[in-house]
Amino acid sequence: MITRFAPSPTGPLHLGHAYSALLAFDMAMAANGTFLLRIEDIDRQRSKPEWEAQIYEDLAWLGLTWAEPVMRQSERQAAYDAALDALWDRALLYPCHCNRRDILEAASAPQEGAPLLGPDGIVFNRSMCPCEAPAFAEPRPRGGTAALRLSMAQASLAKNGFTHRTEPNRAWRRVRCFTETGKGPDGQHGLIEVDYDALQNDVGDVVLARRDMGTSYHLSVVLDDAAQGVTHVVRGQDLFEATQIHVALQGLLYLPTPTYHHHRLIRDDAGKRLAKRDDARAISRYRADGASPDDIRRMVGL
Ligand code: GLU
Repeated sequence: MITRFAPSPTGPLHLGHAYSALLAFDMAMAANGTFLLRIEDIDRQRSKPEWEAQIYEDLAWLGLTWAEPVMRQSERQAAYDAALDALWDRALLYPCHCNRRDILEAASAPQEGAPLLGPDGIVFNRSMCPCEAPAFAEPRPRGGTAALRLSMAQASLAKNGFTHRTEPNRAWRRVRCFTETGKGPDGQHGLIEVDYDALQNDVGDVVLARRDMGTSYHLSVVLDDAAQGVTHVVRGQDLFEATQIHVALQGLLYLPTPTYHHHRLIRDDAGKRLAKRDDARAISRYRADGASPDDIRRMVGL
């Protein structure tokens, strides 16, 4: 078993992070497996070396150890580029220059009905996009003005790694998953059904390379989990909806799908989800106030 904790160094780790990291660590240790750490620092604007240093300090204080070297997403652009090139060559991507306002306008056009919101924001696809049709014979545009979106319609035709349903053009896949709260499309059975038709309607054409980053959370997380050989992804219930996007990408990129464990979210006394900027709940703060690592374990219900 290989588990991981993959924080972004954009703020202090709080109790919710502690729960995620401790759970992933405990799971790996109980199975005589390996616990890995990955620094998700593709957002160069918001990532800061001091937050990264604080992550190592907080996790070590909590009693966690991890295999070295630590993977840092800022050092992985070559892998992201290779995957984007492969998807581009298969005509699965298209460049999109739309900004937020263009997207809202396109999605609000009378023929579209009310804009739908998916896990990645407004559900947006190629047919709504006013950008020029892509010239696939040309090399993939890199950075600068265009984002690269995954065409879910094309992905549906590619069907990689997916089983065909009896209905024509319907490719789907069932994935083992565990949710602590028992919620989710198929909470009872612990299975997620990933269906390209559903992805087209409920998620839309996700951005795989942001114009300012040359990659995206979805692409990087999928490639890195595979590169690190992660067998069990432990993460918050808030990412449940994103998991179907990741499973679809694994199919398209011929990567294995790990088992997903979505855990409950740690909430504050008012029942509000802990936000990263809620510094009052930072682990370092509890530590400064004299709490012990065991106190933190108790606070998150471990
Ligand atoms: N880096 C993400 C975060 O800080 C988590 C990534 C994941 O578990 O997929 O929320």
